[in-house]
Amino acid sequence: MGLLKVIPYGDPILRKQSDRIESIDDDVRKLADDMLETMHLAGGVGLAAPQVNVSRMLFIIDWSLLEGKFDQVKDKGVVVYINPVIYSVGNETLTEEEGCLSLPGINAEVERSDELEISYQTLEDEEIKEEYEDYPVRIILHEFDHLQGVLFIDRITKRERLKIKSELQDILAGRIKPFDGTNISRCDTPVA
Ligand SMILES: [Zn+2]
Repeated sequence: MGLLKVIPYGDPILRKQSDRIESIDDDVRKLADDMLETMHLAGGVGLAAPQVNVSRMLFIIDWSLLEGKFDQVKDKGVVVYINPVIYSVGNETLTEEEGCLSLPGINAEVERSDELEISYQTLEDEEIKEEYEDYPVRIILHEFDHLQGVLFIDRITKRERLKIKSELQDILAGRIKPFDGTNISRCDTPVA
């Protein structure tokens, strides 16, 4: 296992469409292990491969970190989503605060669907189809966006964006850095 550096906002890899994973081999298993270790130390509940400089279709979520009202997913524990496909999204939306390990210190309200159906492969190469609702949907959509080169700040209002302008500049200029193996982050909003 090894710690990975989290890639900051501004790096072009965060804007690329990720490649499909054709074979679930030792490289993929090691990537998932390293991402999990990194995510736990960085203080995130979710992490997508492009955030650790790997442009492949994989993200992880540790559902056990969601406290309180999300008991329907908590028992799932750590889930590795490989080659995810979202084929149905609910019409109802929820607006809540979001954060991202690649944008340390920034939170903003994002409107997202509150229901989805997803299919993905597991590390054991099983094909899974699942439905999610409420807050967990937000985390999945946030991670799924990373695989398409989309960041949560692309989905916020102009007004919200103005509020975080100087923080974005701080990240671009390297004055604020994401987790690099040493700086443990502190954040109240679950970040992904
Ligand atoms: Zn993120």
